[in-house]
Amino acid sequence: MYMTSAQLRRAFLDYFASKDHQVVASSSLIPGNDPTLLFTNAGMVQFKDVFLGQDKRSYNRAVSSQRCVRAGGKHNDLENVGYTARHHTFFEMLGNFSFGDYFKRDAIHYAWQFLTEVLQLPKEKLLITVYATDDEAYDIWTKEIGIPADRAIRIGDNKGAPFASDNFWAMGDTGPCGPCTEIFYDHGDHIWGGPPGSPDEDGDRYIEIWNNVFMQFNRHADGRMEPLPKPSVDTGMGLERISAILQHVHSNYEIDIFQGLIKAAAAITGTTDLDNKSLRVIADHIRSCSFLVADGVMPSNEGRGYVLRRIIRRAVRHGNQLGAKGVFFSKLVAELGVQMGEAYPELIEKQAIIEKVLRMEEEQFGKTLERGLLLLTDVLGQLGDSTLIPGEIAFKLYDTYGFPIDLTSDVARERGFSVDQAGFEAAMEAQRKRAQQASNFGADYNQALTSANITEFTGYTEEHGNATVVEILRD
Ligand code: ATP
Ligand code: MG
Ligand code: MG
Ligand code: MG
Repeated sequence: MYMTSAQLRRAFLDYFASKDHQVVASSSLIPGNDPTLLFTNAGMVQFKDVFLGQDKRSYNRAVSSQRCVRAGGKHNDLENVGYTARHHTFFEMLGNFSFGDYFKRDAIHYAWQFLTEVLQLPKEKLLITVYATDDEAYDIWTKEIGIPADRAIRIGDNKGAPFASDNFWAMGDTGPCGPCTEIFYDHGDHIWGGPPGSPDEDGDRYIEIWNNVFMQFNRHADGRMEPLPKPSVDTGMGLERISAILQHVHSNYEIDIFQGLIKAAAAITGTTDLDNKSLRVIADHIRSCSFLVADGVMPSNEGRGYVLRRIIRRAVRHGNQLGAKGVFFSKLVAELGVQMGEAYPELIEKQAIIEKVLRMEEEQFGKTLERGLLLLTDVLGQLGDSTLIPGEIAFKLYDTYGFPIDLTSDVARERGFSVDQAGFEAAMEAQRKRAQQASNFGADYNQALTSANITEFTGYTEEHGNATVVEILRD
């Protein structure tokens, strides 16, 4: 069976609607009223208070296709993009939810029926994991569904800390959490990687497609696990990962949506090799950046805005790597509208403003990128046998040329180097102390210091950022 991403999204919503689930629209990437979370990173975020028993809905079963960003905070995949077949900064999570209604048995049966009957995936290519002590889930899989024992894997707290298991899911450091069962797809032995729980599990042969979480606890800041009023279900399946399977390809980057974006990026940057890693990074980043702007995030020097800025700059650096001359990134918003505008009309409605925000960032960073890269290349040439870039250099690139630390790390990694992260943090801290001391001399001196920074260095200050926003809004 072959399905487009759009057909899959529809099939998922329809299947769970037929099982009495209320179809709920995706919420914003900016979580409502949740200062503990940088971005919406899962389908359950908009239902957090319902799980906690602090909010009630008119339905107790829901289904959604939720836009998610994992580029900061607890779930951060920014540095995986370009290196794995399965990670994006922005992706869509298909999810079904039970608020104190059905629990483990129905959740597992629904998931299995959807995959093997609706999508007709071959059963022998599917593996499952359960939390080590969850005998109930294990028995449902092996006795009711009939998964052979060699494809049902128990995963415990094998990562050093309690509840650090892949099969114990938490939205963040606090909030709803619980044991989970996950479904993996075997893409075949021509791809490197081992089954979940094995030493090679980070490879991309066995790709995790669906996580079914049995929400049972509310974790407090002091680590206390308080049982939830009603055991619930929260599931998440990456639309791009399941699309890859239904489109008979291995990597998410080979699916319809991404091929469209990659071709457009290739044409704009004059790249002929469609498998070039930088094209994948750019195709990924245009999605997260456009959706973040559409949801009201503006580039800035802190918080959400700084994450957006980091992603834009990373994309611009990859364009530079491909030899793109001038503005290219913002030109991809139009193609994104072609690929995803039907499901997300705001991409079309807000196209002009998204393009403008991205273009201004590209133009600004373009001014210092080349010089920073030259400095970095110089430094690498002088490191001798060491492969560690000193923290002060990473800090200088950040402070003088506007290089976010992950961008420097990304360039370093490509060239076989790494960055002394602790040294970078120390240099940052030293700078903070100097600024603090300077401010003790009085406001005027501090003022002078700040404006010197603006003209001499980057022009990326908050003041400038705000001026940009005001100008855009006036248009
Ligand atoms: P992985 O182990 O592959 O990083 P995960 O365990 O972090 O995935 P969950 O938090 O369990 O993922 O999220 C539920 C589902 O969302 C995953 O099974 C996967 O299909 C999808 N997913 C998670 N992270 C990403 C991502 N960065 N890009 C695309 N899909 C993702
Ligand atoms: Mg992950
Ligand atoms: Mg996982
Ligand atoms: Mg998972």
